[in-house]
Amino acid sequence: MKFEQYNIAPEIKRSLEENDFKKPTDIQFKAIPSILKGEDVLAIAQTGTGKTAAFAIPVLDILQSQRRTKESWQVKCLVMVPTRELAIQIADVFKQLGKYTKLNILGLFGGVEQDPQIKKLEKGVDVLIATPGRMFDLIHQKYIDLSRVQILILDEADHMLDLGFIKDIRDVMRSMPRKRQTLFFSATINETIKDLAYSVVHNPIRIQISPKDPVSKNVTHSVAYVEMDDKRFFLERLVKEFPENKILVFVRTKVRAERVHAAMQRVGIETLTMHGDKGQQDRLAVMEEFKKGNIKVLITTDVNARGIDIPNVDYVINYDLPDEPENYIHRVGRTGRGVQKGRAVSFCSTEEKPLLDAIQKYIGKPIDTMTIEKSDYRETIAFSEDIPNNNWRLLLEEEEKNKEKKKRKKK
Ligand code: ADP
Ligand code: MG
Repeated sequence: MKFEQYNIAPEIKRSLEENDFKKPTDIQFKAIPSILKGEDVLAIAQTGTGKTAAFAIPVLDILQSQRRTKESWQVKCLVMVPTRELAIQIADVFKQLGKYTKLNILGLFGGVEQDPQIKKLEKGVDVLIATPGRMFDLIHQKYIDLSRVQILILDEADHMLDLGFIKDIRDVMRSMPRKRQTLFFSATINETIKDLAYSVVHNPIRIQISPKDPVSKNVTHSVAYVEMDDKRFFLERLVKEFPENKILVFVRTKVRAERVHAAMQRVGIETLTMHGDKGQQDRLAVMEEFKKGNIKVLITTDVNARGIDIPNVDYVINYDLPDEPENYIHRVGRTGRGVQKGRAVSFCSTEEKPLLDAIQKYIGKPIDTMTIEKSDYRETIAFSEDIPNNNWRLLLEEEEKNKEKKKRKKK
């Protein structure tokens, strides 16, 4: 079935067409009718399968069909998300798809001045997409009134419920009308979180697409055994071998992100870094640069693991393995989005093997191994331009010379 045949407002169809969305994805096909009917939905579908539009399309349709009343400045749909970047991205999707409706859409997040946000709230917001921190601040200051919320959405729902925000979320729910629709969307979920989710909704419809393999089918992923101190050489080689590729590199900490950035700089590779210590303007600028592809390598912590939709990421590198097994799914899911294909490689050192085991247990099967021959491993280190007197390089050159000598002697 095509979007043309859907019983949704022509204003929305027009923007779907402009975005070249012709047919719904599986999750959209299943979730849209339920949401339009007013049902509570818990939807689990792989990364990059269009979950945002799966809730944005029906929400826009429901809200734009309502008559405006005196209270129309109050928030009618609240979308809660874990990061600032995600608040911006999802607000953009709502704005694009709602371009021909008269609905007001606002992305709300911390790290920037709140006055301009308050001005927009005072003018009236139909759909509010917010991170918890700033939202709670503005609720307490009475700039946000949730008493007219009809639809509450938790994107990256398992993470939102798990973040320790559950008490706050319950409080927020209490300030909303009891009769409302609640929607949960995520690529991952566990039993505890599922119970928690069910405890806050009425008769939810559970929609799960390809539950067997949580890793997106568009992503080819493997693990390479690389020792901690050698990882930078492997990253260097990969970047230099595929200079045209857009590569997203995940590391464990902010400090490591800066260190890897410096190591790459020493060998002439320009990279961007992204982590929680950066100012908001910086974060926005970095994301823009990487989206545009001006700089091809972005080194990031898990702040970018979830939800972020960057076009044309060719490679995800788990430079460090994630501590949380589900983050493996989210990280590798930054590539292979929509109909695109992607690749992911994880560098696993001896001390990280337990993390790898946990990930494999979580996804329910072993990850393919990318075998690196000893000679290849050494060659990779020799290939590095990091240190002019690279020990490995000198050793290898020595060995080459010896070989040559031996050959000559034989002759
Ligand atoms: P998810 O939240 O499931 O990880 P997103 O909502 O971020 O995925 O969407 C992933 C990509 O798929 C986006 O770039 C989006 O524009 C694209 N997309 C979503 N729905 C459709 C559709 N029906 N047709 C074509 N592209 C789509
Ligand atoms: Mg998403």
